[in-house]
Amino acid sequence: MLSLVPSAFAAQQNSYHDPAEHWQEALNRTNELDANSVVTVETFDCCICDKATAFEVFRVPEYTRNGETALTRNVKYSDGTCLDGKSKGDLLDGTPGQDAYYTGYHWTKAVCEVCGTINSNMGATSYACNKNVYWLYDCAADFFETLPESKTIEQADRNFHRVITTSGEYCAFCYGTYKEESSTLERHHMETAIRPELAHDRFVEMSTCADCGYAETAYTAAKSVVADYFGVVDGQPHTVTVSDLSEAGVTTAIRYGHTADGCTLTSAPNYTEAGDYAVYYEITYTYKNTDMVEDGVAYVHLRDESTEETEGDGTCGEDHNWTLLDSVNPTCLTLGYDRYLCVDCGKIEKRDYEAALGHAFQSVVIRDATCEAPG
Ligand SMILES: [Zn+2]
Ligand SMILES: [Zn+2]
Ligand SMILES: [Zn+2]
Ligand SMILES: [Zn+2]
Ligand SMILES: [Zn+2]
Ligand SMILES: [Zn+2]
Repeated sequence: MLSLVPSAFAAQQNSYHDPAEHWQEALNRTNELDANSVVTVETFDCCICDKATAFEVFRVPEYTRNGETALTRNVKYSDGTCLDGKSKGDLLDGTPGQDAYYTGYHWTKAVCEVCGTINSNMGATSYACNKNVYWLYDCAADFFETLPESKTIEQADRNFHRVITTSGEYCAFCYGTYKEESSTLERHHMETAIRPELAHDRFVEMSTCADCGYAETAYTAAKSVVADYFGVVDGQPHTVTVSDLSEAGVTTAIRYGHTADGCTLTSAPNYTEAGDYAVYYEITYTYKNTDMVEDGVAYVHLRDESTEETEGDGTCGEDHNWTLLDSVNPTCLTLGYDRYLCVDCGKIEKRDYEAALGHAFQSVVIRDATCEAPG
């Protein structure tokens, strides 16, 4: 009885793989063929046992440097022996995957599991019988199976990835494989996620191709400066100054309140009386439907200039005992000055005026409730 189909048991032990991609090298040719063989157990007639016995069968694809089987040069056996069992020829073998190609033939040998004789299924007169050699066999078209199509995707550049489709067929016995590869360029399938980073005053936009993993990161600044107001009581309303320094694409909404939890006012509260006022604010930055909220507090400091100089009790005449009481820094609109106090009569005098500062942020001020534009 002759069985050419690998048993189910053997198939489980030797699931399909392309031997060329898993090639193991060994010190001599027979060992190398053994190491890379698909091994099955099949029933053949043994010429030594003189009956049908179980054989361990080894099959491995033939790879040559020119892709043609050695049989075209009459070489049949893996030791280089020709069909006549006497003359020698060149196998032209090499390393598969590097310099040798599948020929559409496989090397095979069989070992009787009863008597241990190699190739005793070939008949006692065969050159191979009782020799540890392989012989060449045609991987007939009937034995070929279709290779499941597989796709791999690799990055090409910032716009494209390469889709490589592999298909083909393989010999069901030795797994010798003919592969066809085709590749096409496709645009990335970018998926974007936006992450707010309040501590860094920015939105981070991570775009990743779901297919190949190509990623880009972009940063968009989202930042406002809320400045304290320092000024004098002058009958006009005063409040804090907000400068929006965000980049294009960011919308900024700001709410104010008299307490940290109560920021509901759409415009900053104004103050006309002398005092130090806390203005709480809550700024919502929105970039492509992603929000982040910044909380804070700024102050309005209003001084009543009219009470900042006094005449004292008059006991000193023109001979005062001056000491520096305090200094007022200039603001964008008001002069700076020093105040001196006479420690004897209580007279207070302003001196050493400094020029006002001007408006450093004027070009980016979005809401400036100052003298020029009462809030
Ligand atoms: Zn036997
Ligand atoms: Zn084959
Ligand atoms: Zn991609
Ligand atoms: Zn005095
Ligand atoms: Zn100003
Ligand atoms: Zn003013």
